[in-house]
Amino acid sequence: MVTEVNDAAIRTEVLIAGGGMTGLTLGLALAQSGLDVIVADSEVAATQLAPTYDGRASAIAYASFRMWEALGLGPALRPHAQRIEKILVTDGRVRGGPSLLSLSFDRKELDAREDGEALGYMLENRHIRAALNAAATETRLRVLAPVAVTGHAPDAGGVTVSLKDGRSVRASLVVGAEGRRSTIRMGAGIRTTGWKYKQTAVVCTVAHEKPHDGIAHEYFLPSGPFAMLPLTDNRCNIVWTEKPAISDALMAMSEVDFLAELRLRFGGHLGAVTMAGPRFAYPLSLQIAERLTAPRAVLIGDAAHGVHPIAGQGLNVGLRDVAALAECIVDSVSVGLEAGDAEGLKRYEKWRRFDSTSMALVMDAFNRIFSNDFAPLRQWRGRGMAAVDLVPPARRFFMREAAGGSGALPKLLKGEVLGL
Ligand SMILES: Cc1cc2nc3c(=O)[nH]c(=O)nc-3n(C[C@H](O)[C@H](O)[C@H](O)COP(=O)(O)OP(=O)(O)OC[C@H]3O[C@@H](n4cnc5c(N)ncnc54)[C@H](O)[C@@H]3O)c2cc1C
Repeated sequence: MVTEVNDAAIRTEVLIAGGGMTGLTLGLALAQSGLDVIVADSEVAATQLAPTYDGRASAIAYASFRMWEALGLGPALRPHAQRIEKILVTDGRVRGGPSLLSLSFDRKELDAREDGEALGYMLENRHIRAALNAAATETRLRVLAPVAVTGHAPDAGGVTVSLKDGRSVRASLVVGAEGRRSTIRMGAGIRTTGWKYKQTAVVCTVAHEKPHDGIAHEYFLPSGPFAMLPLTDNRCNIVWTEKPAISDALMAMSEVDFLAELRLRFGGHLGAVTMAGPRFAYPLSLQIAERLTAPRAVLIGDAAHGVHPIAGQGLNVGLRDVAALAECIVDSVSVGLEAGDAEGLKRYEKWRRFDSTSMALVMDAFNRIFSNDFAPLRQWRGRGMAAVDLVPPARRFFMREAAGGSGALPKLLKGEVLGL
């Protein structure tokens, strides 16, 4: 990794604004394919790797994990990756933990798959970021940090991207990977639709006495989902969704009181529970960009679509953007066109538009249906869950969707490498 902050004019083929998990993955995919790429991030990597930066862990679909392995991240990620063997979904009320079992997804039902891989993996975001940053140092990927991207101006020959420190970068294409407040998206005049959920996710990691056996629990409570997601070393990541007033109180209360509240939902099936890190609060919202591309500019990840975390799909959708965009760019360049070629961008828009928008809307619908205490709706969803639980092909369909292995998969998601 080359960290440049004081150079004068800079030239590259692709400038990626934002070095989060999607931006760095795209940077690696393109650099390993032989393109000249720069990633610019407004924060230094050390800040993003600190334990106080991001307490989340991500449920990584099998296909997303396979892409990271194809990019050489396997050895760095595997020691921290907890296999998800089973997902238990419960519709219930506070107290007693996940006892009213309604729906289960078991990896063993997918054993037709030859490699016996997990449904997916749980990985702490800090480990993903560390692996991506380490891989960046080993490739031709140039990272500029800390420096914010402040704007871009396309023209017939390329795009000029301005940086906050006064420098500019001349590129064929600029990628907006800077999250929900994307400067590139706003500069390109791409509007968004969406709304705030009156929900905040309180996230923390706990250690427990008994093994979780790779079982993820999602427990639907009236104010939102409560998820217990298995991590390595007898730990779970908790995503506890509440109304903002309650989440404020949860963040403010003492550790002893917080644990007492947590146990009411967590139940006693994993024995004694202790805190294994700080608490974090994430206000939730839906945001969908009306387009993914503009002249010489393209959006990926949360810059393109911010979805409800109810089924842990946001990053996975972003990684599907990465795999599709990398393939479109490499295909353009390999036939002598530019990285920012309009036809290549059109192909990306067509490939990703439906999947990303429909995923955002499905997650929104799940949240409306499940974060609700309306009695007729409770009965209806209980019957729906029981019906899916009774029909093995329906369960297998949901598992394959969650593993990210269906649809027209880009090469990287199939574990294949790209090359010019
Ligand atoms: C509680 C919660 C739980 C979740 N759980 C899951 C899960 O289990 N599975 C899953 O798939 N997804 C999950 N998600 C969603 C996932 O975390 C996001 O989709 C993902 O982090 C988005 O990554 P990104 O790289 O697109 O954007 P970001 O993570 O927002 O990264 C943006 C980057 O751009 C940089 N930046 C910002 N502005 C600028 C600028 N102007 N110039 C340069 N750089 C800039 C930032 O410093 C940052 O590094 C969850 C989300 C929440 C809130």
